Amino acid sequence: MTNLTANWNYPTAIKAGPGRIRELPQHCRDLGMHRPLLITDPGLAGLPMVSQAVQSCQGDGLACGLFSHIKGNPTGQNVSDGVAAFQAGGHDGVIAFGGGSALDAAKAIALMVGQGRPLWDFEDIGDNYTRVNVAGMVPVVAVPTTAGTGSEVGRASVITDDHAHVKRIIFHARMLPATVILDAELTTALPARLTAATGMDALSHNLEALCSPVHHPMATGIGMEGSRLVHEYLKRAVDDGTDLEARHFMLVASCMGATAFQKGLGAMHALAHPLGALYDAHHGMLNAILMPYVLKANQAVISDTMTLLARYLGLPNPGFAAALDWVLALRESIHIPHGLADIGIPADAVGKVGALAVLDGSAATNPIPFTSAQYDAILSDAIQGTL
Ligand SMILES: [Zn+2]
Repeated sequence: MTNLTANWNYPTAIKAGPGRIRELPQHCRDLGMHRPLLITDPGLAGLPMVSQAVQSCQGDGLACGLFSHIKGNPTGQNVSDGVAAFQAGGHDGVIAFGGGSALDAAKAIALMVGQGRPLWDFEDIGDNYTRVNVAGMVPVVAVPTTAGTGSEVGRASVITDDHAHVKRIIFHARMLPATVILDAELTTALPARLTAATGMDALSHNLEALCSPVHHPMATGIGMEGSRLVHEYLKRAVDDGTDLEARHFMLVASCMGATAFQKGLGAMHALAHPLGALYDAHHGMLNAILMPYVLKANQAVISDTMTLLARYLGLPNPGFAAALDWVLALRESIHIPHGLADIGIPADAVGKVGALAVLDGSAATNPIPFTSAQYDAILSDAIQGTL
């Protein structure tokens, strides 16, 4: 295996390489933390990797606390509870540890510990971000344990408004964690089904960024290579969770997807966000199933991009059809269902979700500005599995 250990400084300080979780106390200290609060989800909180991380900080003289009251789709209440725990423990920094839910909640908590306004005042609309009291934010070390959301290099958190039952994006450029540890050893125990779903979420970020009409050639380049890493390593990671090289490159692909989507996302996410909020379905699984239906609906304007991608991946007869067939074959090879009905999305979601998709922040950068009726038509096909 090639040497996987490296330090990268784009888009933030990234410490990549198996085993590097051992450097956690030092990276906390480098950011001025003495009393970090490790924030994770309840499923991870009982695992040795979390107790070892907490103990390694405590053994190094850091007064490290633990907060884990976070739902699969984190809510505004979870963020408020985390802020209360942070203040009760007199903490001075956050270790965001886990999958996308824990990372998003932790980033939002690190923002909210020093604000005088309610969370929803910082929703990513217009110039709301200017309301943030930057001096009140605390530093974050992010440690992803899944390879999918890339939230560790994102400048936003997706938080569910528990009263309105919608997902809202909380944004500030300084929400980007100051230090990221990409340690593939933390991801080897992830079950195959979650590896597949989160890996397809990473692919959806790379693909939607590629298809976004926003002019950002750097992000386009990252989206291409991020897609290639998924092509090369996702099935390997699903088939053998202990394949450290595959796990490492999926963590990198996940980081790249979230970096690329500074260009914006598109219709996969515009549909997945309301579906996740209404039916509590897994975000990555929703994107994985929606992916070919959305690509097909966008076909008229993404053919050139998909042809470039097909060439870069070395697919036979490069063109839109080759790229679509590749997505379908990859999806099937890692046992992703073909229709949303297979994961319990009911037929009557059509007619409700389209209107919400149009309003979702991701809709603005889909290459075609779909109407709510068009979103409902895509959703109807995706529920029934009619491509
Ligand atoms: Zn996503």
